[in-house]
Amino acid sequence: MPANADKIDSRGPSHFIRHMVDQDLAAGKHGGRVQTRFPPEPNGFLHIGHAKSICLNFGLAQSYLDAGYQGACNLRFDDTNPEKESQEYIDAIREDIRWLGFSWQGDVRYTSAYFQYLCDFAVELIRLGKAYVCSLTPEQAREYRGTLTEPGRDSPSRDRSIDDSLDLFARMRAGEFADGSYSLRAKIDMASPNINMRDPVIYRIRRIDHHQTGEAWKVYPMYDYAHCISDALEHVTHSLCTLEFEDHRPLYDWILQALPDESLNSACIALGNKTPDTDYVLPQQTEFARLNINYTVMSKRKLKELVELGLVSGWDDPRMPTLSGLRRRGFTPHSIRNFCDMIGMSRSESIVDVGMLEHSIREDLDTHAPRAMCVLRPLKVTLTNYPADKNEILQLPRHPKKDIGHRELPFGNELFIDRSDFEEVPPPGFKRLTTGSEVRLRGAYVIRCDEVVKDDAGEVVELRCSYDDQTLGQNPVGRKVKGVVHWVPAAAAVPAEVRIYDRLFLNENPDDKASGDFKNCLNPDSLQVLTGCLAEPSLASAAAEESFQFEREGYFCVDRVDSAPGKLVVNRTVSLRDSWAKISG
Ligand code: ATP
Ligand code: MG
Repeated sequence: MPANADKIDSRGPSHFIRHMVDQDLAAGKHGGRVQTRFPPEPNGFLHIGHAKSICLNFGLAQSYLDAGYQGACNLRFDDTNPEKESQEYIDAIREDIRWLGFSWQGDVRYTSAYFQYLCDFAVELIRLGKAYVCSLTPEQAREYRGTLTEPGRDSPSRDRSIDDSLDLFARMRAGEFADGSYSLRAKIDMASPNINMRDPVIYRIRRIDHHQTGEAWKVYPMYDYAHCISDALEHVTHSLCTLEFEDHRPLYDWILQALPDESLNSACIALGNKTPDTDYVLPQQTEFARLNINYTVMSKRKLKELVELGLVSGWDDPRMPTLSGLRRRGFTPHSIRNFCDMIGMSRSESIVDVGMLEHSIREDLDTHAPRAMCVLRPLKVTLTNYPADKNEILQLPRHPKKDIGHRELPFGNELFIDRSDFEEVPPPGFKRLTTGSEVRLRGAYVIRCDEVVKDDAGEVVELRCSYDDQTLGQNPVGRKVKGVVHWVPAAAAVPAEVRIYDRLFLNENPDDKASGDFKNCLNPDSLQVLTGCLAEPSLASAAAEESFQFEREGYFCVDRVDSAPGKLVVNRTVSLRDSWAKISG
């Protein structure tokens, strides 16, 4: 049973954030509104860590909506770093969120759509004496900032007049100055024990084009400044983010309190995010622990490095922890949402066993995936006593427990079994085929191996067997045949390429500094491509992304990129063995 299954009620998992929202609603704090947002930066593809945040933000809003409150979640691209961002990432992120099964309120939003408001508010802060244009270069500013143990020093620009700052900020915007020559800083406290509060930069000069706003801007707001205001402009009630932002919360609050409520309120109304007759309440930031998984890296920067160095085939390589990689590998949205419910929500960092993620997809596929047979390393079997011109059609259930119909398997005198199911010199306890022994063909007859055919090199290339026509589907009374092997009919089998994936990293913690660069512990055997595999005929019509349990081999899905009519490519999603369920059960 999943670790937190007992705590998952019909509204989704119960946790401290839900309790907080319940209390806010009970206190009438937001007038029955639960407005969240998911704010990815479009500088890479989403990974399984983001799924945790997506399930939290979208899931929470949806569950309150279902309970009769005004629950809604916005998708907002936090696009304040144009040099690292692109439309490709925006498109991929939208698709991944939809694939996971969530939908955002209204149109997609962009922080860049608020650039004019952000700039006007910055001017307002200067006018209020709460921000100033600083002439320190980034290097100098670092030096003035102090350290964790030493306070910072005031910038020589700190006492610049309001008029001067207004003038300089206007000229920064007009593109008169080089990148890094000036910045706009909040005037807070250079002696604060919290470094984030030591007059943080809120605007910097970057004379580059932006993927959404083109060449309109020469200055771009910093994340901390843009984020809280964007939340406020969208009338967000609960701004949920990961723990590394905890020390930024005082700045989040400072900026929103420094701006007159009336300015935020009227901007919010102008944007259509609030009606004039409702109260304006500032958003509140709450942090939760990031998801970490062993044998995995979870930073977009590192994932990007793997892609750019060609160490994986792309962002959607089935070994990647990206949502598009997991999707291509055969993970279902349901299994990922379930996993996010299982891991729970806490305020302390921990590392989740990757076995739990694998358990979650195994459980889903065990319940839903149709069964099929695929021989990965084919070995020919000829049934010498089966008439060459005879052809039967066997019916096998598509699922052992669910009534989802049957599949048809032609049966004739030639078929293939897996090479590993035959041993000339069987090890002790070997229950499969050997010379003179019997084995059952799954869903068909019992066969006995009479003769082994070898090539010049001594390789076994064919088994000549006889079948027992009294054994279709069941053992005759008094005869026990223990071994069952899977098989495919020779004439109708569908050629397939099968890709067997293993963990991308050998180290439990690839980020561990002791192991040096995270790329040092890449698993050289994380991908094994098997060509010349043979699948049962029902696979000929399988659609992209369709999942199967290949009996005795694991769960597989049809590759959505490389598979095509007449060219079957399947990925192994996960093996059959579930080590995590054993440990936890
Ligand atoms: P990374 O550190 O992987 O590059 P990020 O935090 O820079 O990710 P964003 O695009 O800013 O990526 O993230 C969007 C949202 O997803 C943020 O609210 C962030 O807190 C959340 N998020 C990112 N990584 C995780 C994670 N591992 N677990 C939970 N939430 C995450
Ligand atoms: Mg980020």
